[in-house]
Amino acid sequence: MKRYRIKPGSKVDLSKWDPNEKALFEGDKEEGKKALLALNDRLETLQELLYAEHKHKVLVVLQAMDTGGKDGTIRHVFEGVNPQGVRVVSFKVPTQEELAHDYLWRVHKQTPGRGEIVIFNRSHYEDVLVVRVHELVPEEIWGKRYDQINAFERTLAEEGTTILKFFLHIDLEEQKERLQARLDEPNKRWKFSLGDLKERKLWPKYMQAYEDVLSKTSTKWAPWTIVPANRKWYRNLVVATTLIDTLEGLNMSYPQPEEGLDDVVIE
Ligand code: ADP
Repeated sequence: MKRYRIKPGSKVDLSKWDPNEKALFEGDKEEGKKALLALNDRLETLQELLYAEHKHKVLVVLQAMDTGGKDGTIRHVFEGVNPQGVRVVSFKVPTQEELAHDYLWRVHKQTPGRGEIVIFNRSHYEDVLVVRVHELVPEEIWGKRYDQINAFERTLAEEGTTILKFFLHIDLEEQKERLQARLDEPNKRWKFSLGDLKERKLWPKYMQAYEDVLSKTSTKWAPWTIVPANRKWYRNLVVATTLIDTLEGLNMSYPQPEEGLDDVVIE
């Protein structure tokens, strides 16, 4: 999975990252879906261990262009995981109250506690993406945020949070197909918004903004993974495997049981 991880300090050119590639899995879609089921089981066990040990905190950040597959990734990767230990937080257009504070205020409040996995569906990165593309604040302000975000994430990491950030990478053609599918299928129409078409026109600006995010904020303590995401099944495999590898690296163990349990007889 190192293949998709951005080395700190490296310059990312997204045109060199193929959203169709599937180099790490030899099988086809059906086999890929089967492989995910085994990963779901493994993730379920690791999450239970994380919860039981009550030591580590895990933050998963998901970013993508519209239709990039954030919701689908959450649904498929975390299928079977006990909802008690996992929380999904979706960051929308900030409220008046949120706007009255600094941009990290609403984010910090939602970070994971011990034993918890929190998934950010969008995140503080919107404050250097949509905010930059639409010039919601001047460059003088958003330009400083990369360093601020690195410092913020460093604080979280030093205080015991494991941070994983995923950019689900699709291309313009794939987005067209997905938007078209939303128009064509009655049960998907609710997901279609005319605003998405306006955003689509800004694709090159978003790519530029994402390249800066990926180049400036992939750190040792909070690395970015670029996920080839045109194929949904492959995307799910990459995210699930990266997460599992990371959780396994935490060397977790169940808490020591009380002494003398071997002799207990329950009447
Ligand atoms: P999603 O597309 O994530 O499924 P929505 O369709 O409700 O959910 O979109 C959420 C919107 O909120 C996106 O257009 C996103 O750009 C916007 N948003 C999120 N964070 C911010 C922010 N800090 N400033 C401005 N807009 C934001």
